[in-house]
Amino acid sequence: TPALQLDRVAKTYRIGDEHVHVLVDCDLTVRAGEFVVITGPSGAGKSTLLHVAGGLDAPDRGTVSVSGHDLWSMNRRARAAFRRRHLGFVFQFFNLVPMLSAVENVSLPLVLDGTPARVADARGAELLDRVGLTGRRHHRPAELSGGQMQRVAVARALVTRPSVLLADEPTGNLDKQSSTEVLDLLRSLCQEDSTAVILVTHDPAAIGYGSRTLHIIDGNARSADATGIGGDG
Ligand code: ADP
Ligand code: ADP
Repeated sequence: TPALQLDRVAKTYRIGDEHVHVLVDCDLTVRAGEFVVITGPSGAGKSTLLHVAGGLDAPDRGTVSVSGHDLWSMNRRARAAFRRRHLGFVFQFFNLVPMLSAVENVSLPLVLDGTPARVADARGAELLDRVGLTGRRHHRPAELSGGQMQRVAVARALVTRPSVLLADEPTGNLDKQSSTEVLDLLRSLCQEDSTAVILVTHDPAAIGYGSRTLHIIDGNARSADATGIGGDG
């Protein structure tokens, strides 16, 4: 069973009388442990693809399956619970909860899922150790650097051992050194747990991390070799 499978997914936005066909019969299969980078010009539909794949935005047609479970045949409540357990998200602007400490941010998905506080705390602390922030456990986001905040976000995204991690421009707000640290962590932690990664980026440094690079062309995700737009080809 693939970690993520999109089958003939279509997504159109309607703005007044105008229809924008962002995804058109879009197919994508990502296996456990794969690191897929999606790149391409602004407006091509990269964020839309991630949102549909992550159960945040409904497709008009087609199916999205995570570990064989059809996301959009679940009701809203089931999908939210499934998302918390099986999908991890990392965003450009971190999206940490300002009032919570680093370790509380990391353990939050477990707490929301009903994990006993003591177990959630221990697992949160373990993940913070793995991203090199043992000494920052009780700091709030405002007391951390951008790179440290993104490492907390990576720890939070992986705390539930998801099968798929979705990252939208995770280095877009970081300097070069922090970007490298975050990407190295993403790669090593996801390899250890065979977590599939789908990373959307403009950052040339991030593109190098992909085991596969795709471009969104005409509403579909195409391999970089086939498009001739650089990448590995
Ligand atoms: P208009 O250009 O007047 O806004 P539409 O965008 O509604 O017209 O449709 C243009 C064409 O695209 C039609 O042939 C329609 O069947 C097709 N189409 C509409 N929605 C989709 C979709 N989500 N994916 C692929 N093709 C679509
Ligand atoms: P990318 O991430 O590649 O920059 P997006 O997925 O954000 O592209 O957007 C693809 C297209 O869909 C763009 O033309 C954008 O303007 C349009 N779009 C995205 N979200 C919406 C929305 N909520 N409503 C209307 N149009 C949208």
